[in-house]
Amino acid sequence: MNNKIWLSSPHMGGTEMKYIDQAFEDNLITPFGNNVNAFENNLEDYLFKGRDERIHVAALSSGTAAIHLGLILLGISKGDEVLIQSHTHIASANPILYAGAIPIFIDSELDTFNICPVILEEAIKDRISKGKKPKAIIAVHLYGNPYKVDEVRDVANRYGIPILEDSAEALGSSYKGRYCGVFGDISALSFNGNKIITTSGGGAIIVRTKELKDRTIFLATQARDNAPYYQHSVVGYNYRMSNISAGIGRGQIEVLEKHIAIRRDIHEFYRTVFSEIDAVNVFSVPDDNYFSNYWLTIITIDFDKSMGRTPEELRVFLESNNIESRPFWKPMHLQPLYEEFPYYGEKISEKLFLSGLCLPSGSNMTEDDKKRIKISLYKFFNIR
Ligand SMILES: *Cc1c(COP(=O)(O)O)cnc(C)c1O
Repeated sequence: MNNKIWLSSPHMGGTEMKYIDQAFEDNLITPFGNNVNAFENNLEDYLFKGRDERIHVAALSSGTAAIHLGLILLGISKGDEVLIQSHTHIASANPILYAGAIPIFIDSELDTFNICPVILEEAIKDRISKGKKPKAIIAVHLYGNPYKVDEVRDVANRYGIPILEDSAEALGSSYKGRYCGVFGDISALSFNGNKIITTSGGGAIIVRTKELKDRTIFLATQARDNAPYYQHSVVGYNYRMSNISAGIGRGQIEVLEKHIAIRRDIHEFYRTVFSEIDAVNVFSVPDDNYFSNYWLTIITIDFDKSMGRTPEELRVFLESNNIESRPFWKPMHLQPLYEEFPYYGEKISEKLFLSGLCLPSGSNMTEDDKKRIKISLYKFFNIR
């Protein structure tokens, strides 16, 4: 049997163990330490490139934790409404429920597959007319592809609503020369096992001021008051990144640029393969303002040209060849968990869900893997 080709699996650079060994030598097997500080500095330096203002990064236990703390920093509490792109991973949305707030789901547009600024504005107007102004917007750079940064920012500014930018899948992607992760009032990164770089599990919050970073760390370490004993005045969390995980992160950030280059090559590989297959569109960013890390290369199938073949059939066929692929994220407003919440849209995210598939895009993919994928795709679509 052929080896399994994964959608996106961890890809170590080689120096990670050095930083982990250091943590062992220091006996800092702890949720703080030199690796945590250094990893935060690495991320700050990386995101700062080409900018005048410094941003501040706090390393956390997951991207989900970053989004949760982001909502808390934005003052979201019980009963508040939060606008969020429906086409996303569940981790973008669940923190809204953790905060006791109400998600209002917004459809995607077809240029980036991310939050539609036009529908976003319609939704804001409608919520205001119903007597409640939404308190935050969660916008997501899905599959590594930047959302319409300027348009979404314009809408947010027009109504004075802050943006929580979910950049979990988009480290290294950029828009008009600035990295994703700097466009939100607050932004979140993830280093889960399948992301472009991983710390096994982990995440980070990106904020504008040192004060907000300090506040994040305070909240992420059980919100302990300044007293000799354990005294607490507000609810805290146990959300800090482990010094071991951060060691992996330090090694991984050294290979981030390389991983991006490889994933972009894989994207080009798929564009070439599918140039022969009329029924399939490979999603690419709309113009030069957008730069994607192509964390995953995604396709949509045109049913008028595919003779009834569906992404699900392709997924099952690839699976039978030991190749993993994955449906698009099922829209949040179609999830049993979220059915009862308001949704604004024109069924774009539903259509994307039915027609889309994510293809194996891991930076550790070999030339042989690519060959196998190509043969399988050609077989499925009856080419040659
Ligand atoms: C992975 C992911 C997250 C959450 O990150 P975790 O580190 O897994 O908690 C959030 N949003 C999106 C879009 C993601 O893909």
